[in-house]
Formats: sequence, structure tokens, C-alpha cells
Amino acid sequence: MQEEYTTPLVWNPILRQHLVNAAHRMNRREGTTECPFCADVKNGLVEEGKQVWLHPNDFPPLQPPVGEAYVVIYNRDHNKTFTQLTVDEVFEVTRLWRSLYNDLSTRYSTVMTFENSGTSIGQTQFHPHGQTYGISIIPSYLERELETVILEDEAGNGCPFCQVQCELSGSEQEVDQNEHWQAFLPPYVRYPYETHLYPRRHVANIGDMSDEELRDLAALLLNVIRGYNALSDGEMAPMPYLLGLHQLADERFHFHVEILAIGRAPGKLKYAASSESIWGQWTNDSSPVQKAQELHSAIEKMKKGQ
Ligand SMILES: [Zn+2]
Ligand SMILES: [Zn+2]
Ligand SMILES: [Zn+2]
Repeated sequence: MQEEYTTPLVWNPILRQHLVNAAHRMNRREGTTECPFCADVKNGLVEEGKQVWLHPNDFPPLQPPVGEAYVVIYNRDHNKTFTQLTVDEVFEVTRLWRSLYNDLSTRYSTVMTFENSGTSIGQTQFHPHGQTYGISIIPSYLERELETVILEDEAGNGCPFCQVQCELSGSEQEVDQNEHWQAFLPPYVRYPYETHLYPRRHVANIGDMSDEELRDLAALLLNVIRGYNALSDGEMAPMPYLLGLHQLADERFHFHVEILAIGRAPGKLKYAASSESIWGQWTNDSSPVQKAQELHSAIEKMKKGQ
């Protein structure tokens, strides 16, 4: 008998936020040999010449009208890693992120595009891919950012993201940049090499970005993640990371990408332990200025070697 789909959103009246309760995902496969994404190609589901495609999530944590979940396949080649893709190939990925945003944002208040990279943070499929959820609520971190944006707007201070960007532009905490995008380690990062990517233009979401802006985003993403792998002469590669797009349909919001790099030193990971997980009190045991300089140097060295 088909199990009836019940809304997985559980309201926490104490923290005033939602939890997604997806008990059916307990049965999902973990590291099985047959790749479901290669099977899409084998079964003729991917158009000739197409490198980037959508695979419906086989164990969706969300279903309409609460949400939708998709897997974004980055490339046909199972053995490629994100950093082995070319700028053009990543540009195609960002174009699919944009069209997914434009579709899902008509039905859901939040479009969460993200990637979990590395076994140490729970990656179970190794074919290069990421995920996108459309969800009918605004997750708590994003809501907090939106509240800040609204408060600053009402106080007549303008966009707080533009403010941060202005302060960090050209500073020691800027790790890389190009015509349309900048990458920083702001002073308040939680992980030693956590990097935030901002478009130079104030734009609320990827749906409003031009092809030129997306191509520059692709180039900057590659530089930053390849830079992680070049840290300490490659001793931290492959850097496990969580990558997510923060965006909203509210034009006061400022689109940005957050990359939480989990490594803190060769062979060492930063864990969200008690103070972080139980209180939400983050401690960063390193200097963001120093780490930004390390990452900046690793990227510059890598560019020279190209
Ligand atoms: Zn595969
Ligand atoms: Zn802004
Ligand atoms: Zn953010």
C-alpha cells in the first residue's frame, strides 16, 4: 500500500521555526554501486550533447504543496570532480540554477540551491551533482538575514550586504574577484576558510542575473574551491565543503553564495560541536584575515601555474 504523504513541516513553538520531518528517507540507499545519474544517460533520459540535467530526487524530503526536491547533475562524466569542470561547464550549471529558480520561485517562497561535497559531511553519491529545493517557508538563517535587511531599510541605512561589501572591497579579507563578483572571508565567518561570494550589483536572486554575471560566478566558484585544494601545498585536498545560495524574491535582499569549507588544517576538520549545535554559539579559532591571505595566495599561485 502506498504510504500517504503527510506534510513534513513540524513547527517548533519554542524556537519558532520549522523542522522537515522526512522519516521515509531512512530507507534511502547509502553508497550503492549502481549510479542513478549514469543510469539516466544509459536509459536515454538525457538529450544528446547535454552535460547538465535535472534528476528528480528519488527520496524527496519534500513534496508539493510543501516543496519540491531535485538533483542537479553537473556533468555526464561520473569520475569528474567539481574542480575538474571548465568555466563553461560550471556556467551551464549556473544557468540551470537560474532556470530552476525562475520555475520554483513561482510556487515556493524559498529556493535552496546547495551542494554537500565530501564523505566527511555526508556525500553519498560521487557523480558530480548538487541539489535544489523549493520550499513553502523561509528557513531560519535566511529569515534572520531578511529581518536585518528590512530593519536596515526601515532605518534608512540601505542594504547591509552592500555595506559589508563596501567595507571588505580591496581589504585583506578579499580573496578573489572579477568583473561581476567578489569573494571575501568576512570577520564573522564560522569556519576558518568559510567564504562568501557577492555579486557587485545589488540583485536579490539568481533569477535576475545576466549570462555575463553567471559566467563570472562560475569562474569565481572554481577559483575559490580549487584554491581550497591548493592550500598547504595541496595537503587539505579534497576540501570537504557545504555550498549554498542565499536568495529571495524580495528586492531588498542581496543574493550571495556561502561556502562553508570544513577543513581547518591538514588532516583536521572543524566540527559543529556543543557550543555551536546546542547554543548556536560559534567559535572561530583562527584569524579570518590570516586565512583570507592564505586562500588568496593559494589562488594566485594556482592562477600563475595555469
Ligand atoms: Zn554516475
Ligand atoms: Zn545590496
Ligand atoms: Zn547568507
